[in-house]
Amino acid sequence: MTTQTTTVPAYAAPAAKAPLERTTIPRRAVGEHDVLIDIKYAGICHSDIHQARDGWGEGIFPMVPGHEIAGVVTEVGTGVTRFAVGDRVGVGCMVDSCRVCDNCKAGLQQYCTNGNVLTYNALDKNGEPTYGGYSTHIVVDEAFTVRIPDGLSLDVAAPLLCAGITTYSPLRHWNAGPGKKVAVVGLGGLGHMAVKIASALGAEVTVLSQSLRKKDDGLSLGAQHYYATSDDATFEALAGTFDLIVSTVSAPLPLDRFLGMLKTDGAMVNVGAPEEPVSLNLFSLIGGRRTLAGSGIGGIPETQEMLDFCAEHGLGAEIELIRADQINEAYERVLRSDVRYRFVIDTATI
Ligand SMILES: [Zn+2]
Ligand SMILES: [Zn+2]
Repeated sequence: MTTQTTTVPAYAAPAAKAPLERTTIPRRAVGEHDVLIDIKYAGICHSDIHQARDGWGEGIFPMVPGHEIAGVVTEVGTGVTRFAVGDRVGVGCMVDSCRVCDNCKAGLQQYCTNGNVLTYNALDKNGEPTYGGYSTHIVVDEAFTVRIPDGLSLDVAAPLLCAGITTYSPLRHWNAGPGKKVAVVGLGGLGHMAVKIASALGAEVTVLSQSLRKKDDGLSLGAQHYYATSDDATFEALAGTFDLIVSTVSAPLPLDRFLGMLKTDGAMVNVGAPEEPVSLNLFSLIGGRRTLAGSGIGGIPETQEMLDFCAEHGLGAEIELIRADQINEAYERVLRSDVRYRFVIDTATI
């Protein structure tokens, strides 16, 4: 094994809560099963901000966030079989896993029971910190690299690597499709993809947002209905309505009221996570045999399936393309929900 590394430009948070600034980081030499990716675009996920500001604790600094990566392969290791130089590829939230546990064998690397290696703010199998997509290049094992179909532009494909798969996976698992009524809570980066994907799957989609401010957007993204959760009448009008509610918000919700909008056997799935524990009255589940569930990103095979599905249906993220020197400003705007609907960094500006 070679230990030769290269040094590449990146944007990093030098310490928790510090603004991100331009720096350089090491990338490992291209190993036998690795691909070197020239990153073209990197999406800004809300969880980047959580971690750069150490909201979940135990951050590794300096931190280069970014797990919505789209680029082009520029070098392949001698053992690489699935990719060639020039291929358009993506990398999401994980860059490795144990590969031998039951979940890994089933393609559910996101639930690796031995702990997977996250794309940034983690330690790889050699104990080296991982650095994410706010950078010009990344070296990733081909097993954690996915193909971006030609029908998808790389800039609008980047956010699919987290926002896309995080919503696609539960929508598929809970069978969103024709004849199903699906509610999407929150119309942000994740929510807008949930609306697009659920609609493309054939479900009848309702957006549940705090206000009606983005109603026109929601309807044009594919929702048939749009309700404000700030209006108490919404919960009464929609009682017992949905087969599936996908919550994309990280603010704590009044769960009992949301669960009351499920049909018998309906499920409410959370892909957003508040920092504090939540409470609910279990009778909200018992009456109607309802399910309250969570779901995290998706495995590598499903991530490829999602990209193929999105290409087939012409689904990219709605993005605002920014320069790297606008990252800190973009973070402030994400925290104010002032983005339609994903910031994407043009990494040529790093
Ligand atoms: Zn993310
Ligand atoms: Zn595993």
